[in-house]
Amino acid sequence: MSFSSDVKQELAQVPVLSDCCAQARAYGMLLFGRMFSVSEISFVTENENIAKLYCDVIKELFDITPSVSSGVSKYTVSVADEADRKRILEFFGHSESDISLRINRANLPEDCCFGAFLRGVFIACGTISSPEKNYHLEFSVSYKKLCNDLIQLLDEVGFAPKYVKRKSSHIVYFKVSEKIEEFLTLVGAMNSTLELMGIKMHKDMVNHVNRRVNFENANLSRTVDAAIVQVEAIEKIERTVGLESLPAPLAEMAKLRRDNPEVSLS
Ligand SMILES: [Zn+2]
Repeated sequence: MSFSSDVKQELAQVPVLSDCCAQARAYGMLLFGRMFSVSEISFVTENENIAKLYCDVIKELFDITPSVSSGVSKYTVSVADEADRKRILEFFGHSESDISLRINRANLPEDCCFGAFLRGVFIACGTISSPEKNYHLEFSVSYKKLCNDLIQLLDEVGFAPKYVKRKSSHIVYFKVSEKIEEFLTLVGAMNSTLELMGIKMHKDMVNHVNRRVNFENANLSRTVDAAIVQVEAIEKIERTVGLESLPAPLAEMAKLRRDNPEVSLS
């Protein structure tokens, strides 16, 4: 399994302690799912447990049992009945005549709800790279205004995310490892945070050792370069005035160097 699905697996199991946060998490999952409109409310996932969570969330809040279809490697969960879809939209303060999908902040009444909401959003449309490779966490959003609202919300809680358009998707992302750790902590993925920090420490140590080895190799090659210059000079003296013209201790040193060019005499 990828690191991303490990994180989602963990997030699916984070207990929700209050009604306000249960609604905020459900809102994040639904709003950032595949579709959230009167004609379709649906969610696609590769993970069976996440599909089950989506069903449970809808069942608990609305007493509606969504339909699930499974394809080659994914599950599609959807609310089949139009009256049910209208009821869900109304509950979250959305209207079937809304022109564009936006985050309705009334669904995040308390500070505690931000983490639960963002957990739902990440479950719905987030991915994270394996920290062994690089540090990258992103959300892929289908609608520009909804994406802008998410950027603003992440900004408010201190994440300073970046934006890029990729094909028809709006991508919100951050690449700073500390921000990724903070985000995972905020949404309740403690084990994943610790795993990321452990991998980061290991990578930093390997980098440090490599830098040290490179530094020592560079020193060694400087020593060798210096020895070559010295040997050339000694040979020139031998060819011209002879080593015996040097003071005795220096002549001794020159012979040693000439016969042992690889040894550091410093
Ligand atoms: Zn709350």
